[in-house]
Amino acid sequence: MDRKLLEKIKTGELGFHGIDGMLGIGKAVELRRSAVSEMTGTKLDHISKFSLDVETVTKRNIENMIGAVQIPLGVAGPLRVNGEYAGGNYCIPLATTEGALVASVDRGCSVITACGGANVRIFRDEMTRAPVFRAKDVIGAKSLVDWVSEPANFLRLKEKAEETTNFGTLLRIEPFVAGKSVFLRFSYDTGDAMGMNMVTIATDVAIDIILSENDVELVALSGNMCTDKKPAGINAVNGRGKSVTSDVIIKKEIIVEKLKTTAEKMIEVNYRKNLIGSARAASLGFNAHVANVAAAMFIACGQDAAHAVEASNAMTTMEPAGNGIYCSVTLPSLAVGTVGGGTRGATQQECLGMLGVAGSGNPPGTNSRKLAEIIAAAVLAGEISLIGALAARHLAKAHAELGR
Ligand code: NAP
Repeated sequence: MDRKLLEKIKTGELGFHGIDGMLGIGKAVELRRSAVSEMTGTKLDHISKFSLDVETVTKRNIENMIGAVQIPLGVAGPLRVNGEYAGGNYCIPLATTEGALVASVDRGCSVITACGGANVRIFRDEMTRAPVFRAKDVIGAKSLVDWVSEPANFLRLKEKAEETTNFGTLLRIEPFVAGKSVFLRFSYDTGDAMGMNMVTIATDVAIDIILSENDVELVALSGNMCTDKKPAGINAVNGRGKSVTSDVIIKKEIIVEKLKTTAEKMIEVNYRKNLIGSARAASLGFNAHVANVAAAMFIACGQDAAHAVEASNAMTTMEPAGNGIYCSVTLPSLAVGTVGGGTRGATQQECLGMLGVAGSGNPPGTNSRKLAEIIAAAVLAGEISLIGALAARHLAKAHAELGR
């Protein structure tokens, strides 16, 4: 170990990133970890153990790397999914530290599978980026909106944006105005990529044409009407990423046998909790715990975990249906992909492989849509199981037994 370099990091003479160019990347990771260990008086034995490929992840996924954290991985299922892209029984990978979560999703999967599987359909598939421009006044704002709405101008912006990618296509640009601020919400089909880097790069070059032909200034490439990683009504209403719905009819006898409750009780819990309770709380999430299942699958499958915020803009419904209950969950803004970002990691590739969606689909876009359908079905399993547990008053007991 280079003691001199380590001391320089400790005194601040060298920044954490300063050693990357001086040492091989593997040695830089070790030295940085030793410096942090000494600076904080902490042994970092576990952080130092991992099988990630340092060369790969330090190029695209992490800066100032010192190691890796481990999160236990469980499996739920098999879960039967009747989608347009996913069809069959799937083992659902869930990375979480919340005791009782995997058991609960597993129970929901067994209910759904016993009822013939979850139907899933994708209604929209668009990733967005919305730069904000400053016009001189509202007259200038209207002039920019009119210019962007001209089909010939849209086609020129589309051509320019698409020069930056082999897979992305610009579908529409939706303008929003607030005083002299103009937000242009660019929506793209991003194939199998979740697409945030792709749409950011593509939108950046299209902006050059806008600036050269309009009397406006660009204030920021993202003006928060995208809306990335923040709770936002625009994502809940207009969608972002995959807008996907999953449903199933659960027979009364299966509710009694597997969930130990009744259809009537589950419908009332859903009505008073997910609908009235969420409305009273002015929540954007009319659901029981969509973020739980989404986050655990995101972490397992190399998705951007911060997009659990958008996934949780979801609505769960339950209503009588013949000899049972109709249950559905709608996720308007599920941002997922099977190429790029964190999907490149070896463990993440294995989890995606379990679902048959690692890498590019044939044709492109089919793998990310299949992943979205499986996630939506797993989320439905989580909703059914938790509503069942609340209806049977089993929730606290399950957590006491499995989570403490
Ligand atoms: P990316 O890794 O930046 O790009 C995806 C890559 O996959 C592109 O190079 C694309 O080719 C290629 N590709 C190969 N096969 C493909 C297929 N079948 N379909 C689509 N693309 C295919 O990933 P990204 O999804 O655009 O961005 C995800 C990353 O963005 C995550 O790491 C996330 O954390 C991060 N992120 C960025 C921002 C931001 O503001 N920039 C915000 C939030 C998250 P082409 O080059 O030909 O397109």
